[in-house]
Amino acid sequence: MTVSEKKPMQTKNKVLIAAVSLIVVAGIACGVYFGVHNKSVNNNVSNSTSNNSTSGSTSSLVSPTPTLAGATPTPTNVLPSGQNGTMINGTLFPYYTLTGEAPVPVGIPGTVYTTCKTPGTFSISFDDGPSDYTHELLDLLDKENLKVTFFVNGNNQGCIYDPKVQSVLKRAYQSGHQIASHTWSHPKLTTLTTQGITTEMTRLEQAFMDVLGVVPRYMRPPYGDGTFGPAAKDAVVQSTLKGLGYVITTWDMATTDADIDDNNTPHKLTDEALMKIEQGQVTSVVNAGAKGATHMELMHDTYMRTVRIMAPWSINYAKGLGYKIVPVATCLGDEDPRTWYQKIGPPSANPPTTCTK
Ligand SMILES: [Zn+2]
Repeated sequence: MTVSEKKPMQTKNKVLIAAVSLIVVAGIACGVYFGVHNKSVNNNVSNSTSNNSTSGSTSSLVSPTPTLAGATPTPTNVLPSGQNGTMINGTLFPYYTLTGEAPVPVGIPGTVYTTCKTPGTFSISFDDGPSDYTHELLDLLDKENLKVTFFVNGNNQGCIYDPKVQSVLKRAYQSGHQIASHTWSHPKLTTLTTQGITTEMTRLEQAFMDVLGVVPRYMRPPYGDGTFGPAAKDAVVQSTLKGLGYVITTWDMATTDADIDDNNTPHKLTDEALMKIEQGQVTSVVNAGAKGATHMELMHDTYMRTVRIMAPWSINYAKGLGYKIVPVATCLGDEDPRTWYQKIGPPSANPPTTCTK
């Protein structure tokens, strides 16, 4: 398995066409194939044990799409001209050129991770969006050539089906950022029953499938609730999320932007004073920890000052300390972006445009 970014399109197409042709003609299991991993539409992408076996795994590489008599069959997983990424299950998996079989994910469902594991990494993540400020943040990340994680809600600050929200979410996904779940409506999960937690997760899964064509493997509980105790309530939350296949991630570093910021009300403190408080939260964690300790930083892309001041400051701060800034899943060892998702493709051709049912 290799992961690379934005290989030239022409070469990729040629490789894919050659690979698919070879497989069709030869009809043999060769153990290596190119950017395809489809057993069937909606198939689990990567982590079933059986998917690790190469024997017999290539017999269904080309989807048995019915074709009209005389029509030329189109290989489902050939990348459309002009697109960057890899076709998986007949849908565009963006940005990354992926070859070989997806690895078994490292992050364990139901386990709570509060910081990174890979030495030298510093993950930056943004919760509660997308918002009106997310495009601006994506511009910054593009300029810095960095990938982060977005923990997205279904219906919190805005509705995920709103065409404007769909558009920015697609941009984040197609730019190679990790998209993860932050529940449908941002409740405290310990206040819900198992069924209530399940509904919060699966309703957002449907929206992610509709809009992006993926179901995340990673989630962050709103407020971190379900990871701080009491133990009996946490157990319900964590076992339910485990059953749904979710790796649970919180943070070891928060700018507390959500606690001290609100764009809709006047501040008693100046922006400069607020910025100093937020920066103090970050530097105190770094200074209190071991030298070179990994970190998982939480911010919110729903605040203007976060996007314009704290995000650039955090990036420069982490870089200045010599860290590699990566998405949350990557810093836990899931470097192949296929392991960021439980399912890939296809998205809805005509998703809803409102959150009312
Ligand atoms: Zn949140």
